[in-house]
Amino acid sequence: RSNHTVMSAVRSESTSTCSVLTKFQKDCATPTPFLRDVANAIADDMQAGLAVHGGGDLEMILTYVDALPSGKEEGLFYALDLGGTNFRVRSVQLGGEEERVVATKSEQLSIPQKLMIGTSEELFGFIASKLSDFVAEKEPGRFRLEQGRKREIGFTFSFPVNQTSIDSGTLIKWTKGFNVSGMEGKNVVACLNEAMEAHGLDMRVSALVNDGVGTLAGARYWDKDVMAGVILGTGTNACYVEQKDAIPKLQNKSSSGTTIINTEWGGFSKCLPRTIFDQEMDKESLNPGEHLYEKMISGMYLGEIVRRILLHMCEAGELFGQSVPVKLSTPFTLKSQDLCKMQEDNTDDLSSVGSILYNIFEVKADLKARRRVVEVCDTVVKRGGRLAGAGIVAILERIERETKRLASGQRTVVAMDGALYEKYPQYRQYMQDALVELLGDELASHVQIKHTKDVSGLGAALLAATNSIY
Ligand code: BGC
Ligand code: MG
Repeated sequence: RSNHTVMSAVRSESTSTCSVLTKFQKDCATPTPFLRDVANAIADDMQAGLAVHGGGDLEMILTYVDALPSGKEEGLFYALDLGGTNFRVRSVQLGGEEERVVATKSEQLSIPQKLMIGTSEELFGFIASKLSDFVAEKEPGRFRLEQGRKREIGFTFSFPVNQTSIDSGTLIKWTKGFNVSGMEGKNVVACLNEAMEAHGLDMRVSALVNDGVGTLAGARYWDKDVMAGVILGTGTNACYVEQKDAIPKLQNKSSSGTTIINTEWGGFSKCLPRTIFDQEMDKESLNPGEHLYEKMISGMYLGEIVRRILLHMCEAGELFGQSVPVKLSTPFTLKSQDLCKMQEDNTDDLSSVGSILYNIFEVKADLKARRRVVEVCDTVVKRGGRLAGAGIVAILERIERETKRLASGQRTVVAMDGALYEKYPQYRQYMQDALVELLGDELASHVQIKHTKDVSGLGAALLAATNSIY
């Protein structure tokens, strides 16, 4: 506490003459009652999306994943992961209840930028060729596929997909840095199948899953209290376990039991504290008007928002005197990692802030400017982390409504993955603060946000096993 007071005293002194920053901080404020409204609005949109297709901002996609991993899965399965920045292939040898994961092997590649905005043939051709190299290598361990048996894959595809079954679905839209032409409305699995065929690969996609679903399933394999999977990385999303009879839009009304819902919460857009900088960034993005919540809380955008304010402060003569560094005008040069490093600089003269600004923008920033930059980072990251916390609360309260787990003191786990969460302690802290503020100490004490790194591949492989044709 006392630390905080000292910090903010120093801060207000340094901002006293900076009108752009002062206004921005005011516009970004997320006091508890405001966050409560956000959580409630997300909850309303969840309900609306469960009632009818397209009922609210959140798609609330039916994933057809009704059976979560039991631990009894056995055999050799593969996982393919196409997400924000990386592409990953994995093999998993499952040994059943006792042995669990006997062996696993994986390979990660970054996706060439040009493939993210090229054609679907190029993208899937690239994936199939990498997959082909991967399966050509010998599997260490005891599992061999029987003669004539196809290799089965769980395909983690981290974009909004209208699932038509557990193993098929059509792309609703691209998000993050992707904009591959002509794929919206197309069956994602068919695209992959065509490319695999062209590469002479005889594999079968047995499960098509979102990364949030994969994370939930993979984490659940080890921990029965996992009720949700949240991604805070390049993009963001939340998936959770829902009671089927609480989903009005579900066709099969007689069904009971649970299923996983992919909320696609990135699409939430109401009552957000959006500033002119958010609006301008959105306008110039690959998906204007869409995924507005994602654009305020996920890793792809935080640095870009900061860059835009810094530029504006410069132009107002409130950062580097009269100079405006040319490089400050280049979009997406500042990354979340840079923000994090600057926030973590605890030297007296903020020397690493100085060198980061110098390396990226070729500008020599004096101490006052460095302080202001750190304040901008903090403002953007605080808003992002707190808004993410409000989203998690909306999910937890939804689960609570049906299960009363927290009220009865039952441990409830949110499986979390994504580089933003993993690598940004201050963001995590802001998120956690918001969660406790909204849930209260008692309920929050039964919630565990558990960092489950890279389990989405395991989850996808497990779901492929569950849905195996053999
Ligand atoms: C996508 C989600 C995905 C999330 C995290 C978002 O942009 O819409 O489907 O789960 O990113 O990767
Ligand atoms: Mg990912």
